[in-house]
Amino acid sequence: VGKAAQDPRDIGALVVEILATAPKRGHEEIMAWRNPAKDIERLARRDYVRALRRLFGYRAIREIIAAARRIWPTLNQAQLGVAPKSEFDRVASGIVPRGVHFKSSPWDGPEGLALLGFYAEKGKLHLKHPLIYVNSAHDAGAMSSALCHELGHHMTAEMFKEAPQPVHLFFDAGYAAHLDDRVELAADIIVSLAGYPEPVARKLFSTPWNWGVVARTGRLEPSMLSGVRGHAENRFGLDLTAKFPAGQKLNYLAGMIHYAKLRWGLLAEYDL
Ligand SMILES: [Zn+2]
Repeated sequence: VGKAAQDPRDIGALVVEILATAPKRGHEEIMAWRNPAKDIERLARRDYVRALRRLFGYRAIREIIAAARRIWPTLNQAQLGVAPKSEFDRVASGIVPRGVHFKSSPWDGPEGLALLGFYAEKGKLHLKHPLIYVNSAHDAGAMSSALCHELGHHMTAEMFKEAPQPVHLFFDAGYAAHLDDRVELAADIIVSLAGYPEPVARKLFSTPWNWGVVARTGRLEPSMLSGVRGHAENRFGLDLTAKFPAGQKLNYLAGMIHYAKLRWGLLAEYDL
């Protein structure tokens, strides 16, 4: 957390605020994620345009969108809804294509809440069907974005046949690694377009005076950050001032920053 943390509307300040209000009980959980403030700061500083440019061209991005629109025809045009938790399974089973196994339950493995979900390909594991799992220990908003991410793997599987892992585990703290991984970032692109359709993105991220000749995405400026927070609260029910464990809050904050900056990068570089 550097100098920028002095601006009370900066990401660094938000991390400090969450840590300050953390009850002792959540402390262990926070420590388990070695240095959340540092990880978030890294995401905050990273130039997403460079990552996008390195991993995808415009054509590949169009292909990803076309693949995702087989499930969500209005992707990037209209806001995709978040199903209330009680409704999640019903809504999800309506979206998940035939021939894909879908399972949603609280994860009781050692990773606990850190695991959001996974996608297991059928071929390499000799499964009868591909399997999508979503950890229902999470909030409705996090579950919806996890489902969107895992379905993203399924819809883009054909594009990434060379992918070495048969199972794509989705951990909360792993967003920075996604920026070096075509398979993961493709799935995240779909989530960010679903969460911030074009009209919303143009409203939140249009700051041409800051773009210069070469598009890049640095820190979310305070006005952007508060716009993103408001959007996340209204649309995904993510309220960072609500009472829930600080470690979990920081994970959700990391996701919020990651998807917002990814969306900003897509707008800045590809005008999407
Ligand atoms: Zn993944």
